[in-house]
Amino acid sequence: MPADGAADRRNDSPSSPLPATPVLTGNGNANGIGSLPMNSNFRLRLNPRQDHQPESYEDLQSEFTPILFSSLERYLPPNLLNVPRETKHRYMREVLRRYSTEGERNRVQKHREYRLKITSSYQPLYRDLYKLNATDFFTPSFLNAFMAIDRNRDESIKSIMSEPAPGIYTFNMLQPRFCEMLIAEVENFEKWILETKFRIMRPNTMNKFGAVLDDFGMDAMLEKLTEDFVRHIAKIFFADVGGFSLDSHHGFVVEYGFNRDIELGFHVDDSEVTLNVCLGKQFSGGELYFRGVRCDQHMNTEALPEEIFDYSHVPGHAIIHRGRHRHGARATTAGQRINLLLWCRSSVFRELRKYQKGFVNWCGECQREKRERIRQAVTVKRMELFRGQGEAAS
Ligand SMILES: [Zn+2]
Repeated sequence: MPADGAADRRNDSPSSPLPATPVLTGNGNANGIGSLPMNSNFRLRLNPRQDHQPESYEDLQSEFTPILFSSLERYLPPNLLNVPRETKHRYMREVLRRYSTEGERNRVQKHREYRLKITSSYQPLYRDLYKLNATDFFTPSFLNAFMAIDRNRDESIKSIMSEPAPGIYTFNMLQPRFCEMLIAEVENFEKWILETKFRIMRPNTMNKFGAVLDDFGMDAMLEKLTEDFVRHIAKIFFADVGGFSLDSHHGFVVEYGFNRDIELGFHVDDSEVTLNVCLGKQFSGGELYFRGVRCDQHMNTEALPEEIFDYSHVPGHAIIHRGRHRHGARATTAGQRINLLLWCRSSVFRELRKYQKGFVNWCGECQREKRERIRQAVTVKRMELFRGQGEAAS
């Protein structure tokens, strides 16, 4: 299995994986931390204050992305929630520094400079694509499902989804016009790359073609897509891998066909939840094949018969699944296929995973082993019982 999550993480957008550790790990030790006004011990709360409205840190410079501070603010100790913004910033910065290495911080800084180099020179073809405009982007069925309020919303979201195999959901999502525009924008970006001979980073370790949308200005748009739409889907279907806590993304397009990538080997994504939408154009082949969800330990175990599932892309249609759902893409044999990928991650889920031991409830092999262990225990018990009866009879 060539691209395990760990392998992918090295090459992918450094600013998208939020340093996951700070959220839950404050151990009350303030070693090495300079003088801050409050003499707390740099803890964060385990559970966020959902009703707290975080501030914007866009204008404050530091080695961490401003959005990280906004999302971390809800985890501050209660006595810090309403202190001046600069104080909160310093506090959170110290927490973050303790949990990210210097190498990691340099990488984030370098990537920020890389993005700035692109966005300061690249001229977008369609500026409308860079801000999420739901009515122009989405099909009416998709949009309407999200319009419903609260409790009804879950039901209406469920109603537009098909589940062709366990843990895999498909739905009609993007308008043809939006797909065309996004493809044209990516082609325009590719043209810019050729003209300027700019050396871009490809989306991950497995694709030689394609582009990271976050790197040329679509970061905010995709963040809104994650926040306002994907998180709500994840809450319903993928609560066991972070659900509503998805808080960062890696958004890119992949291109298959002549002069592009041909196929994609068997792998898992570096994501909790992956949204994959086909943008077009016309093509043959390129089916996705799925082979069951696996934890790190069981990555290379056999698929069970009920885990084998193939999916054919339809332009405008989305498929959403757990990142750990093993899959690959068959060869695109004719034409050109372009897909939009959104890898959504949850820093809270990643942090919690470190402390979890034993059977994983979303791993097909863990569940199989668990059933097997129960079966054996029942057999042993039954034999003991029979033996007991036999002795009683004799
Ligand atoms: Zn497992």
